Amino acid sequence: EAKASYRGSYSFFSNEMNLRAQERLALENALREAIDTRQLRLHYQPQVMLADGRLHGVEALTRWHHPTLGEVSPARFIPLAEESGLIGGLGLWVLEEACRQLADWQARGIDVPCVAVNLSPTNFHNVELPQFISALLTRYSLAPARLVLEITENVLLDGNASTLNIIHEVHALGVKLSMDDFGTGYSSLSYLRRLPVSELKLDKSFVHDLHNDQTAQTLSEAVIRIGESLDLVVVAEGVENEIQLNLLRQQGFHVIQGFYLSRPLPAPMLEAWLQRREPAT
Ligand code: C2E
Ligand code: MG
Ligand code: MG
Ligand code: MG
Repeated sequence: EAKASYRGSYSFFSNEMNLRAQERLALENALREAIDTRQLRLHYQPQVMLADGRLHGVEALTRWHHPTLGEVSPARFIPLAEESGLIGGLGLWVLEEACRQLADWQARGIDVPCVAVNLSPTNFHNVELPQFISALLTRYSLAPARLVLEITENVLLDGNASTLNIIHEVHALGVKLSMDDFGTGYSSLSYLRRLPVSELKLDKSFVHDLHNDQTAQTLSEAVIRIGESLDLVVVAEGVENEIQLNLLRQQGFHVIQGFYLSRPLPAPMLEAWLQRREPAT
């Protein structure tokens, strides 16, 4: 009796696991196809300077609309891309598409100072990355400082020997580096000494808890002090309301990004958002 029910639950779990593995594999194949057949799009979320309300730049975020599954969240497909070796190609696609879009805005006189792209640690194992970026900047006639690469502290975790060299080569092109999700990694402070970043992005989990968590507030003040003493631009992401905005302003944050200003938008909608804010004179 007991044995039978044990068997039953055992086969239940193993079926469940098979199903998950199958689903994963199907999704992985779908993602491979999505990259080849251009089901991916970039949305752009504005980043605004607190001092004068001007646009600091935009962050490019990948969106996947699958023909039958609908919208698949980056929280789902980015880890899948990391595990299946697709993230390298995805990162290069994002770089190219973001540069193309920035050049298009430039040609049409739309003032977007810079575009930030999220890259995976894997992209910094690719010794051809600096050359790839340099060629893109030339092809689209973009000043290097208008491209920002968002990296996380994970970038140095795997101990790949060439990573730091590649980061420095990219930096030498004049491209900017931004430390994303700052405060959630393992050794933030020592990384700041080793990585040539010019910007820190306080992770949105801190912003979320600012108004009711003294520790979150103390930590975000510490991040501001670190940023200011190292001469870095300090950005707060995930700003959802005016209370958070006012606290961040008091603390001295330079730039904010979040749903309170705008969700990430397709390029034409971002253009409309910019127009509404700063009507042509
Ligand atoms: P991230 O780089 O930290 O991007 C910020 C995320 O926070 C985005 O989620 C954005 O939509 C979301 N967000 C912005 N404002 C708010 C807000 O006010 N409240 C809340 N709750 N969320 C806000 P998204 O687009 O779902 O992306 C999630 C993560 O997936 C990104 O976090 C990034 O780590 C990764 N990701 C997205 N696109 C790419 C990509 O093209 N390449 C790589 N390697 N990673 C990407
Ligand atoms: Mg980011
Ligand atoms: Mg972030
Ligand atoms: Mg994040």
